[in-house]
Amino acid sequence: MNKPVLLVVDDDPQVLGAVRRDLRTRYRDRYAVMAAGSGQEALTTLKELKTRTDAVAMIISDQRMPGMLGTELLTQSLEVYPIAKRVLLTAYSDIDAAIRAINDAHLDHYLSKPWDPPEERLYPVVDDLLYAWQAEFLPEPPGLRLVGHQWSPRSHAIKDFLASSLIPYRWLDVARDADAETLLRAGGVGAAELPVMFFEDGSVLRNPEPRQVAERLGRPLAAAFDLYDLVIVGAGPAGLAAAVYGASEGMRTLLVDRHAPGGQAGSSSRIENYLGFPAGVSGSDLARRAITQAQRLGAEFLAPVEVTGISIEAGYKRLTFADGRQLVTRTMLAATGMIYREHPAPGIADHAGAGVYYGAATTEAPAFTGRRVVVVGGGNSAGQGAMYLSRYAKEVLIVVRRDDLRETMSHYLIDQIQKSPNIRIVPRTEIASVEGNGHVERVALASVPDGACRTEEVDALFVFIGTRPQTDWLPPDVLRDGKGFIVTGRDLMAAEAYASVWKESREPLLLETSVPGVFAAGDVRAGAMNRVASAVGEGAMVVRFAHEYLALT
Ligand SMILES: Cc1cc2nc3c(=O)[nH]c(=O)nc-3n(C[C@H](O)[C@H](O)[C@H](O)COP(=O)(O)OP(=O)(O)OC[C@H]3O[C@@H](n4cnc5c(N)ncnc54)[C@H](O)[C@@H]3O)c2cc1C
Repeated sequence: MNKPVLLVVDDDPQVLGAVRRDLRTRYRDRYAVMAAGSGQEALTTLKELKTRTDAVAMIISDQRMPGMLGTELLTQSLEVYPIAKRVLLTAYSDIDAAIRAINDAHLDHYLSKPWDPPEERLYPVVDDLLYAWQAEFLPEPPGLRLVGHQWSPRSHAIKDFLASSLIPYRWLDVARDADAETLLRAGGVGAAELPVMFFEDGSVLRNPEPRQVAERLGRPLAAAFDLYDLVIVGAGPAGLAAAVYGASEGMRTLLVDRHAPGGQAGSSSRIENYLGFPAGVSGSDLARRAITQAQRLGAEFLAPVEVTGISIEAGYKRLTFADGRQLVTRTMLAATGMIYREHPAPGIADHAGAGVYYGAATTEAPAFTGRRVVVVGGGNSAGQGAMYLSRYAKEVLIVVRRDDLRETMSHYLIDQIQKSPNIRIVPRTEIASVEGNGHVERVALASVPDGACRTEEVDALFVFIGTRPQTDWLPPDVLRDGKGFIVTGRDLMAAEAYASVWKESREPLLLETSVPGVFAAGDVRAGAMNRVASAVGEGAMVVRFAHEYLALT
């Protein structure tokens, strides 16, 4: 396979030569550095590369070029190479254009000229972006292949697990991919055994659970110790932050998740408001950075591993896992966040994983290339999902009960949606039912004001409404509010059951639950802000309170 390409575009031969030289000096062993003298030439090159199925990792373009501006080129290049990293080279006076291009051209970075010395101003940026690209890029042909039916819920579960766990693999749909049949015949796999995973060494795993895949890939599923200082349940932003701080402050820290790192944030295609990422960051990129950081600092991580219960023994917390294993910890953090509730419309449950997906836009979007899909919901998560799906789908319908998106979605997302010709908002409407033969084929939409129904032919429905806290695994002693969110700190004192459960002479610490030494942070906590940054902040704070609790006992 050819080396992935770094494409530099500039009409000024001197600047073009200089960028090319600097990139070659550092990256020529792993990447092919190519150059184009105009936006038009660059587009032709990209199309040729695509025909040859070569990978393009990065496009670095000057902004001011005759014929086509850099931002226009980068926007158009999205169609050919959607995951390539996009960098705009700007003069100081063009920085405003660069900031605007962050949305339209999905710009990942802008570099102002000159970039000397490259060791300080060019290479760190390019290194970081290439690292992120590598994590998203699925090389062809990769070692790991998953063969199955697009409409099989088990196939969806494995795809979602692999993608969320940042494991590169190649998906082969038996109905569409000629290679699938060859592989199945070579492996002696029958139709009833799908989905099936083919590993690099030629071995196969038939109709596996995500847990078996993790095991086969050598991921640890059992804790290394019997006793921990801090066990964190849930590896969303709150849990990841607690793991980073717990481990860096010398606590023996274990982080577990029943799915994969990242939580809800991990399913976000682009988080635009997290501090320090001016061009936004994808949820999977943020999760990858955070889990790498936590593990480097010494936190242990297990997934997919589900905690099913806890009991308290002389101040120690005993955790029970779904596989029956147990371990003991001195402090514990519940950071189990929220999950989408099943949509009640008839036909939805029958098609879960077969065209109905909760969140999951980033996992399934490529499978709906050229098709029509529905996004249900008017919040930011629905907006991000619709934007991501619109890169692949022919048309995306956003179905909302309200008159418009103004009250529920951020302004920047509404702007992006309005500029996307293949997204249509369907207001004052709800899902009446979903129909299809083995997979979603039609959806009945009901008008909210008068109940009138009409049918739309669609291939998938992505649900982004109705969340509930994930607290079923906690004992009743951990007090919750009427909606099931965990009550913490001084708010506990207003709870009716407070006096009967809290037996300490001190008040509960901030973020401490009604069980001493058990903390809660992030979306699972009553009164949480439902933001990545606030979950991260609370996760970090818990470590300080865990130290305080340990000092008291
Ligand atoms: C699509 C989408 C887009 C979003 N975009 C933005 C955005 O742009 N900006 C922003 O600020 N916020 C955004 N949010 C909100 C943000 O993602 C959440 O507020 C944040 O993820 C909450 O973090 P958390 O750690 O509290 O919980 P979660 O992210 O919900 O993570 C909880 C984790 O706990 C695990 N878990 C649950 N139960 C168990 C158990 N029993 N055992 C083991 N593990 C368990 C789950 O698998 C999950 O990984 C978005 C949310 C969604 C869904």
